[in-house]
Amino acid sequence: MHLLPQASRPSACPGLMRIVPARDGGLCRIRLAWGELSAAQARVVAHASRTFGSGFIDVTNRANLQIRGVREDSQEVLVSRLVDAGLGPLTPGSDDLRNVMSSPLTGLDPHALLDAVPLVSTLIGQMQRDARLHELSPKFALMVDGGERLAMLDHPHDVWLSAISAERFVFGLAGGPPQFENDTPALAAVKTGHVPALVDALLHTFLDLAQPWQTRMRDLLTTCSIEDILGRVQEKLGLPLDRDVEHWRRPTSDARLRFGVHRQGTGDSVYVGAQVPLGRLDAATLFALADLAPQLRMTPWQSVMLLDVPSAEAQAVVEQLAALGLATNPDEPFARLIACTGSQGCAKSFADTKADAHLLARSMPPAGNVHLSGCARSCAAAHRVETTLIAVAPGRYDLYGEAPEPLARHLTIEQAARWLARSPSDA
Ligand code: SF4
Repeated sequence: MHLLPQASRPSACPGLMRIVPARDGGLCRIRLAWGELSAAQARVVAHASRTFGSGFIDVTNRANLQIRGVREDSQEVLVSRLVDAGLGPLTPGSDDLRNVMSSPLTGLDPHALLDAVPLVSTLIGQMQRDARLHELSPKFALMVDGGERLAMLDHPHDVWLSAISAERFVFGLAGGPPQFENDTPALAAVKTGHVPALVDALLHTFLDLAQPWQTRMRDLLTTCSIEDILGRVQEKLGLPLDRDVEHWRRPTSDARLRFGVHRQGTGDSVYVGAQVPLGRLDAATLFALADLAPQLRMTPWQSVMLLDVPSAEAQAVVEQLAALGLATNPDEPFARLIACTGSQGCAKSFADTKADAHLLARSMPPAGNVHLSGCARSCAAAHRVETTLIAVAPGRYDLYGEAPEPLARHLTIEQAARWLARSPSDA
């Protein structure tokens, strides 16, 4: 396993990055290939955030970064700093395209079926350079899975591809790799070398068929059959698709690998992982992380991994992460809490979800994951969380479990904490 040398990675062109307005100022999205940025790039982001923004940086659930609170008179210089640091899009017009999501262990996991870095890099370049693909919705999501032990498998992807060996990938639409018996099976398999052509055919077929209101693959599947889509894809590819894949199941991901010290690749170095509380870093913390390791990776759990840490220094790095307020253990409250931007940064929010989550963290029960959402859109969680608190008024939430109906309504944070602490037999 190896990392591609920096020179072989996609490099940014001086195209425009779009800064979108939010309640707390401009929001600048920085898309990171496989979540990675160097310590030098992290310092550029931290400095830019402090100088041109509010000093806060969010880690997103697609392993990207967002600089928040960008002042209007600073947007041009901010973009120029980021582009100079190699953190902009590859081509003008491609900034809105979602990155290809892959495991935070891409290229690092000796147990993976292949090093997916070259393939992911090819796909990012292919998608950004094809101007027609810039028509895809910013929410259109693609996942490439090299079979790493840690992967975000629960997000609903428009297109997903999973290695079943170093030579072959299976794929599916509007979902994720099947892990359990009753999951929707993969659709077909292709050789690894044919994946770029397959993705090209799938994305162009989507654009050929989708009506303006059909921005996601699940929308297209309401009016088009899978067989119709696959027939067109096969025609574009000029290759038969191997449909004998219905029994394939992906091994489950081990989410605990994002915490603490783990071997990195086959060398002597280790990586150290920790959860960024509620996905929000301040500039000082990002500067401090950049001092701890030469490479950082953000993860779709809004956490961070520090790469290339000498094993003799790993325990000291864990202690420094804890001192910075990051959760280094999966049982800590901030390892089990997520919250959307909330009313500090989003006009749609009924409550200050981040402040309320900090309050809840003080009285979280010892187990269970909780998601606080400022409204029913649930931006912070693309996957199902055991308990969701949806704001209905400042400091007030409806509490949901698995069912679509709330289990309790209009709770304060203190009442929600008491509710969460009840044993199942009390319910
Ligand atoms: S979930 Fe609602 S309140 Fe929270 S960031 Fe998204 S739109 Fe805003």
